[in-house]
Amino acid sequence: MEQLTDIVAVMVSVSVDGPYSYRVPAGMVVYRGSIVAVPLVGRLTLGVVWGAPKDNYAHNRLKDIAQVYEVPPLSEELLKTVDWVSRYTLAAPGLVLRSVLRSTEALDPERPLVAFRATGFEPAKMTPARLRVMDVLADGSAWTKTAIIGGSGVSASVIEGLEKAGALERIEIPAPPIVEPPDPEAAVPVLSAEQAQAMAQIREIDVSGFGVALLDGVTGGGKTEVFFEAVADTLRAGRQGLILLPEIALTHTFIERFTRRFGTRPAEWHSDMTPAQRARVWRGVLSGDVRVVLGARSALFLPFRELGIIVLDEEHDGAFKQYEGVNYHARDMAVVRAKFAEARVVLSSATPSVESRNNANVGRYSHVLLQSRFAEAAMPDITALDMREEPPEKGQWIAPRLAREVFATLDRGEQALLFLNRRGYAPLTLCNACGHQYQCPDCSAWLVEHRFRGVLMCHHCGHEQRVPKACGACGAVDSLVAVGPGIERVAEEAEARFPGARKVILSSDMGSNAQIRDRFAEIEKGEYDLIIGTQLVAKGHHFEKLTLVGVIDADLGLAHGDPRAAERTFQILTQVTGRAGRASKAGRAFLQTYHPTHPVMEAMVKGDREAFYRYELASREAGGLPPFGRLAALIVSANEHDPAFAYAKSILAAAPMADGLKLFGPADAPVAMVRGRHRVRLLAQSGKDFDLSGYVRFWLEQAPKATGNLRVQVDIDPQSFM
Ligand code: ADP
Ligand code: ZN
Repeated sequence: MEQLTDIVAVMVSVSVDGPYSYRVPAGMVVYRGSIVAVPLVGRLTLGVVWGAPKDNYAHNRLKDIAQVYEVPPLSEELLKTVDWVSRYTLAAPGLVLRSVLRSTEALDPERPLVAFRATGFEPAKMTPARLRVMDVLADGSAWTKTAIIGGSGVSASVIEGLEKAGALERIEIPAPPIVEPPDPEAAVPVLSAEQAQAMAQIREIDVSGFGVALLDGVTGGGKTEVFFEAVADTLRAGRQGLILLPEIALTHTFIERFTRRFGTRPAEWHSDMTPAQRARVWRGVLSGDVRVVLGARSALFLPFRELGIIVLDEEHDGAFKQYEGVNYHARDMAVVRAKFAEARVVLSSATPSVESRNNANVGRYSHVLLQSRFAEAAMPDITALDMREEPPEKGQWIAPRLAREVFATLDRGEQALLFLNRRGYAPLTLCNACGHQYQCPDCSAWLVEHRFRGVLMCHHCGHEQRVPKACGACGAVDSLVAVGPGIERVAEEAEARFPGARKVILSSDMGSNAQIRDRFAEIEKGEYDLIIGTQLVAKGHHFEKLTLVGVIDADLGLAHGDPRAAERTFQILTQVTGRAGRASKAGRAFLQTYHPTHPVMEAMVKGDREAFYRYELASREAGGLPPFGRLAALIVSANEHDPAFAYAKSILAAAPMADGLKLFGPADAPVAMVRGRHRVRLLAQSGKDFDLSGYVRFWLEQAPKATGNLRVQVDIDPQSFM
């Protein structure tokens, strides 16, 4: 590595456009990637040495680098990834760097532990307690005070007495590693023929080279089993691995599986950890002591030194897209980072994103299929229940046929699941005296009644108010009526109709992560007969006794005028119906729908996922939508509607001409107000080979700058169109 001297460019971790020049004081040794502290407007800021300065004149006013941290420099591939992500998302590079350098705590050396060991000197006075301590330390090793107490059963004062008497000495020992290194040979599974074939296909990507495999297989096909083998390959090759999961807080079963396979827990990285734990993981990743991380999307920016594989489980999941700070999609950026790192990528899903499926179809990704469930479990038998022909009774949401199926399932001593992807009691509350509809004061959204908690709540901003006794508009008492079902209302109906069944409601607002984990454990143990849940139950859980799934409103996701509505509906329906019959029992699923002939419903009923992908790819291609075209959204917001709209118009007027580029808007965004800010949207659509990021950057440079409370947010490849 080339040592840099004199003047260097330092990328500071604040929202500025590029690196600044600093002097390297005499005696300081820095390289590209060195982590430093530099003075910036009167205070020290973390930064990274980026390379030679742009203009190499000796500037008298240049400041010195204040400090270089004693940690290895960041890897070249990570620096390149930061630059790339910044260019692509239009976020300032320093802001992207902030996703890498999260705290200074991680940069200070790990504090050693205080330990004691025997000096060999025998104290004059020996009590039985003292003897027990000397026994524990007889082999000359050093133990911490807690460990000695644990091993000998004495009190701390005995140890201190021995130290004073000269029989023990105090030394410092390094803290034990946060996790033990995983062992790729700990529990190697016997793969089925199909799994072995899948593994052979992944191994066609060199273990020290770049390549992407789409591991596309039915739920229960053993995708996890297979990608663990790919991770084992990486460990054997001496490289580090990263496994990204969409919802890390609820993945205790995944951690257990990892632990069984590799003989030790993975290091974790997610928002449920303390800053101190995160600092230790960060440091371990950079030093190379941590070999595998299991993390949420932000783990993508951990400072791996020799990254050899990135796995994304449930690669289609919307949780991989970040909307705050840097607007990035972890799946796409994982592929970018892996390319720089010359690493393998495994994208795993039972319902791959349309983008990934297309990449596999055209041969950019290797398409690895797992089509049969492990241990011969059958795919669920899916029926569309036409709500126009067999509607539920008035005031109910469960159609008679589904209710009969639930009864029969409960009779057999099996579990049933009723699924509705909507939290709360009812999505709309109105006064039946005056017709007043309860709306969030700060958002254009209805307030959702949460009856258990007695509140009306906004699902966009979290605003809450008590359910009023009298209508706020006309004063009528007890006049409020709930319109439409939420999961609580389905639970209420289930309580009335299946009174004997042991029930559990699962939705993300029903308790802490720990409480929800407990509910899952109870379900797995068979403590409930009827599960009533939102998308929380759709993923990743294996319920042995579950043989019936009823989807209360299969059309729910289709209602949005969003290019990804069909894809998301197909994904959630496949996931939730896949919960049925995972073990040895065959499962059945019923979809309550008003659109039984919609291509999504037909593909579900026929169990023909290829039909869905063909339909969806064809309609995306016809519309020039991703992956056949590119989209970028500009959301202009302000405290008032008209200035936002006028500013959006002036941005549009500044748009440079470009071939094959289409601009739409300005128009009020589908959710026109959030947290009191009015939102107006511009949309740019281009062909797939057009540099849309570059275009939008150039465009915004031409456009009038935002002033006052105006703001522009750029979202390249938007996933949601609210
Ligand atoms: P997926 O990730 O595709 O949903 P899993 O990897 O979770 O599938 O496999 C489903 C179940 O089958 C799990 O309980 C898993 O332990 C078991 N299984 C899959 N493949 C094997 C194998 N080769 N040996 C032993 N058990 C397996
Ligand atoms: Zn709101």
